[in-house]
Amino acid sequence: MTGAKEALLPELRLGYLKIFAALAFASGIIAWWIVLTSESRRVAQEESNRQTNLLQREIVLHRQTDAELQRARQVAEQANQAKSRYITGISHELRTPLNSILGYAQLLDNDPAIPENRHQSIRVIRRSGEHLLSLIEGTLDIARIEGGKLTFDLKLVRFPEFIQQLVSMFELQARNKGISFSYELRGELPKVVRIDQKRLSQILINILGNAVKFTRQGGVSFKVHYAREMLNISIEDTGPGIEQAEIEQIFEPFARGSAAANSSIGGTGLGLTISKMLTELMGGQLSVSSTPGQGSKFGIRLFLSQVRVAEDIETASMPMPVAYQGQRRRILVVDNEQVDRELLLNILQPLGFEMAEAANGQECLQVYNEFKPDIILMDLAMPVMDGWEASYMIRKVHQSDVPIAIVSANAFDKGLENTAGIPASDFIVKPVNVMELLTWIGEQLSLEWISGVLPTEAPALPAASLTLPAKAERDELMALIKVGYVRGITRKLDEIGEDGQYEIFVAAMRKLSQQFELDAMQKMLEEVNDGV
Ligand code: ADP
Repeated sequence: MTGAKEALLPELRLGYLKIFAALAFASGIIAWWIVLTSESRRVAQEESNRQTNLLQREIVLHRQTDAELQRARQVAEQANQAKSRYITGISHELRTPLNSILGYAQLLDNDPAIPENRHQSIRVIRRSGEHLLSLIEGTLDIARIEGGKLTFDLKLVRFPEFIQQLVSMFELQARNKGISFSYELRGELPKVVRIDQKRLSQILINILGNAVKFTRQGGVSFKVHYAREMLNISIEDTGPGIEQAEIEQIFEPFARGSAAANSSIGGTGLGLTISKMLTELMGGQLSVSSTPGQGSKFGIRLFLSQVRVAEDIETASMPMPVAYQGQRRRILVVDNEQVDRELLLNILQPLGFEMAEAANGQECLQVYNEFKPDIILMDLAMPVMDGWEASYMIRKVHQSDVPIAIVSANAFDKGLENTAGIPASDFIVKPVNVMELLTWIGEQLSLEWISGVLPTEAPALPAASLTLPAKAERDELMALIKVGYVRGITRKLDEIGEDGQYEIFVAAMRKLSQQFELDAMQKMLEEVNDGV
């Protein structure tokens, strides 16, 4: 028995040993696995900490860059606004004196009392003033487009007539220069379209003008093709052409190419810049190709759809009026610049308007109450109270819908949203275009204008159609004419004119007195007396 036990012992020992070895091996593996796991967890933790640190650093850096970008953007915006303010300011400063120059030049040019040889000089003043104005306007246009402030004034336009006018104008220019001008139309033009006529003319006149201007021999061909609501225009010339290297530059502001440098041809270097910007803003394309020495070809592609309208569009141009029918109307001019007020007075008083003046918004409100104007012509930038506020007070406090035109040198303000609700169409930019002003006034007051130059020599007023003031009034007027007292005459005419029925008589007389045609006034009165 003991022998059997002894024989089992080594086996048991071996068995235990195996189990022990197996357990030791297993626990070794487990320990190793635990060590490995915790090690890898530590490594992972470290890695994740590192990534988090990196991310946090990146976030801090991003914040810094964002803040820097924000600052840079603010600086750029401020610089841009400062540039716009500068351009607006300088344009205002230049426009104000130009307003007087061009306004008086227009008045003098229409004055038959001035001898013909002097008209030539007046036209030189007008032309130079207009060139200056085109520079200011060009720069303003660019600033306006760049600042996203340009709005199109879309109106119904008879398109074939519009193109025909351009053709006639450039045919004449080309003929005067001794080069040819051909016009070719493919397809049928839409009868009426809705466009900003001023802006489309600006583009076409500039490119056609350049073609005629730079071409010395040969000619210019103007091809218009309209199909499927697409307008394709090509303007080709046999001028000096444009070097390839110059083609990109000529669209830059103030850049004038070799065609301009090699000749003494005038220009501003702004035309193509504006034309391209405007075409693209209208959703079109402006392209150019050229062979130096042979000529250039400009192409314009524009989407343009026909508008079907029943209403008739007013296209006829109005001759310069000298008076208007019906009762006397009152106009209040609000402007802090005395010269500007005087200019408007000089334009409007001779036509028979009763005028009042105010030098700022506050004065305007006072005069408004007493004078009860039919129309207010309002400047914007004025001390004490500006034009916007005065307009707001008239509309909202006085609850009045008297027509107000903003007459301002600050073209940037045109179309600005304002609390007085004055639309862009009631905005007249200085220098005031007399016809534009009169057209606006005529529309607002439904005036029937009397046109044509009144006789200055032997006045022959059709007595039958004329209502005359009483003999006593006429005699008084005659006495003043005989002594040559113009202020007295003006006052007397105002007095007679208070009764609306003598309006035509008063307007005719006033026109003559404005021109100091006292002899003609005397003759007219004598004739009237004879006829009665
Ligand atoms: P401007 O005509 O006032 O100089 P533009 O911006 O209209 O300014 O034109 C810029 C330049 O492009 C011109 O100075 C001229 O060198 C060149 N250019 C424009 N049109 C033509 C053309 N038809 N032929 C040759 N060169 C042209």
